[in-house]
Amino acid sequence: MERLQKVIAQAGIASRRKAEQLISAGRVRVNGQTVTELGTKVDEARDVIEVDGRVVKAEDKHTYLFYKPKKVITSLSDPRGRKTVANYFRDVPVRLYPVGRLDYDTEGLLLMTNDGELANRLMHPRFEIEKSYLALVQGVPNESALSRLAKGVALEDGVTAPARVSTVRAMSKTAWIRLVIHEGRNRQVRRMCEAVGHPVKKLIRERIGFLRTGGLKPGQYRALTVDEMKKLK
Ligand code: URA
Repeated sequence: MERLQKVIAQAGIASRRKAEQLISAGRVRVNGQTVTELGTKVDEARDVIEVDGRVVKAEDKHTYLFYKPKKVITSLSDPRGRKTVANYFRDVPVRLYPVGRLDYDTEGLLLMTNDGELANRLMHPRFEIEKSYLALVQGVPNESALSRLAKGVALEDGVTAPARVSTVRAMSKTAWIRLVIHEGRNRQVRRMCEAVGHPVKKLIRERIGFLRTGGLKPGQYRALTVDEMKKLK
């Protein structure tokens, strides 16, 4: 037996919190009876659960590691007709959602899943897993610029948390740097680099937690292994 809100969240319909709101609002029925009590326990295999009159089915969980190419938008549809991440998963029989975002011009690793619970947890600020980026920046950052990036940069939405920063390769007018961060603010790496005077020309996410690019090329994906799934939970 599981708590009703957990079953709804696991079916990928809503976050746990949103599921609680749906229950309190009287939009959930169990075996034909409206249930508004949050702690209600249900048997996923036997009880018929409905949200707004639609039966909730526990879907098989699918989670993929995807190498998002640049010039692809991290959403399921785009009113402007640009290519979206969903275009790459037409053969997968379930609707997958991106875990977090990569900018249109950023390439690299993105998790795609229909496991709403996993997605919500991975994106929760408390759990925010380490992400490593390679950035090709304009100019060659000196020690002071690197240390500002590492200690925290004042952005309009607050000072960034400490990061690990290193120079991978310095050319004459540009450099590749590696930034390892925990936060996931909008355009964070681009804004951090810009703030220290080194705008980003190219950005690649090379690692999410323990998940690395491996042999994946832009546009390719692979299912997570059972061991990887266990480690993520
Ligand atoms: N930081 C950015 O600036 N862009 C991304 O896509 C991810 C992190």
